[in-house]
Amino acid sequence: MTDVLKTQSTSWTTASAILFDLDGVLTPTATVHEQAWKELFEGFLASRPDVPGYREDDYFDHIDGKPRFDGVRDFLASRGIVLPEGEPSDGTTGQDSAEIPGQDATVQGLGNRKNKVFNDIVSAGVEPFEGSVRFLEAAVDRGLKVSVVSSSRNAPAVLKAAGLNGYFEIVVDGVVAAAQGLPGKPSPATYQYAAELLGLPSEECVVVEDAVSGVQAGHAGQFHSVIGVDRGAGRQTLLDAGATSVVNDLDELL
Ligand SMILES: [Mg+2]
Repeated sequence: MTDVLKTQSTSWTTASAILFDLDGVLTPTATVHEQAWKELFEGFLASRPDVPGYREDDYFDHIDGKPRFDGVRDFLASRGIVLPEGEPSDGTTGQDSAEIPGQDATVQGLGNRKNKVFNDIVSAGVEPFEGSVRFLEAAVDRGLKVSVVSSSRNAPAVLKAAGLNGYFEIVVDGVVAAAQGLPGKPSPATYQYAAELLGLPSEECVVVEDAVSGVQAGHAGQFHSVIGVDRGAGRQTLLDAGATSVVNDLDELL
């Protein structure tokens, strides 16, 4: 009962803006990152039959949520492999993104290859979540401002591939955060910066997130409310992290 009252009193319709996370909220691209890592490391380990092959659990055990190059180092460490750090230009050339030339067998080279594989998958097209698009359109129709706040440096490419770029004038992504010196989620800084760019106090902005670190960011930032979207993190986990309410799909809010 308390939960119901709380949800009603903080309904998104009383806010001035909605700040959307991207991967896992608007688009199912959390799984694209997973797929890109799989392609990368399967290709890399193909020439090393003495090392155990890539498994699905490797993503969750060693890579998920980490900055790209940390993910590379930690996965390699799990196989007892240490590669030189390499140069930032490693892995940025070549025809076939799944191919790993010897000179690119560095941490930088593998990280850059992963990014290339990700972009190749994304450029083939991304289907946004239908319920999320309906909610986004409803918010815009009501006159609310909208923004995307993503840790990813690929957010603009993903938005474009999903056909959603036209909705968002303000995108605070990994590139913007780095340029502004903003700490990533679970710090609320990137969400607060988006509110500032919209010209609104945080208290008038709703945060929509699927990840625990993102919900924590919203909770820490004194926002209007934090809507958790349960794409697998778990309803109770998101509530415990500070979500005001949790839905399985954003069209439940319409
Ligand atoms: Mg997310």
